[in-house]
Amino acid sequence: MINIVVEQKVEITPHLLRLTMAGKGLAEFPADAKGGYIKLLFNTGKTSKPEMRTYTIRYIDRQNCTMEVDFVVHGDEGLASSWAQSCEIGSELEIRGPGPSKPLNQQADWYLLVGDLSSLPAISVNLEQLRQDAIGYVFILVDDESDIQAIDAPKGIKIDWLVINKKTKNRAELVMQAVAIKAWLEGECAVWLAGEFEMVKALKKYLRDDRQIKKQNAYYSSYWKQGLTEPDHKKEKQSL
Ligand SMILES: Cc1cc2nc3c(=O)[nH]c(=O)nc-3n(C[C@H](O)[C@H](O)[C@H](O)COP(=O)(O)OP(=O)(O)OC[C@H]3O[C@@H](n4cnc5c(N)ncnc54)[C@H](O)[C@@H]3O)c2cc1C
Repeated sequence: MINIVVEQKVEITPHLLRLTMAGKGLAEFPADAKGGYIKLLFNTGKTSKPEMRTYTIRYIDRQNCTMEVDFVVHGDEGLASSWAQSCEIGSELEIRGPGPSKPLNQQADWYLLVGDLSSLPAISVNLEQLRQDAIGYVFILVDDESDIQAIDAPKGIKIDWLVINKKTKNRAELVMQAVAIKAWLEGECAVWLAGEFEMVKALKKYLRDDRQIKKQNAYYSSYWKQGLTEPDHKKEKQSL
């Protein structure tokens, strides 16, 4: 368990908030902790153990014992999201971690990365670690145009932002259509897919069954599910 304290709070876009957190224990994190995950612990008093929420390490500076974590702002019903919005410089929290990052196969011929704001931190880390001549596509779902932002990627990686407007509320449908109309490139594709449960489920099926993506070239993870808190989602994601 590590104690951290909030040092800085920056709004990246209206629905993405970056917190810089400091804690001596971060010095013990492994060198490749960037892109890995941590568990934030919340003592709500409603359960005997603290409630946990999972977040990605966007940056870490082990020498200065700081890390940056990006929080999706999604109303006030989420423990972690609400905490991120209301915390102040000096607010404290306990965390556990880190869990390993899921890097892409560096030998693939091309790449397909798909996600939403919750997996954007991990996608950004992956893009920063790709070789400069890498080619492929990235699709990121956002609820609002105002969340579209500049991200670093190799020149040959094309980034498409998919805005969920009132007509196209179905995340899975929107992503499936966008992926399907892109020309499928030559050679072995490495896939990285994470975000809302239904979107991940639908696209995973398409990539595995129709596109025959090999298991060793694919990472699929449900990060959250509409209408479920993280503990309930955790049970359901076993079925993915
Ligand atoms: C490995 C991993 C890494 C992750 N990294 C990040 C990260 O870096 N940043 C990040 O923001 N999230 C990340 N997530 C997702 C995050 O853990 C979940 O979104 C979590 O449910 C947020 O907790 P909460 O307390 O805010 O909401 P909860 O109390 O869990 O849920 C309350 C309500 O909010 C809804 N909800 C939850 N998340 C979202 C969302 N993103 N958008 C809209 N509605 C939502 C739920 O469906 C539920 O109805 C990660 C998940 C995993 C598994």
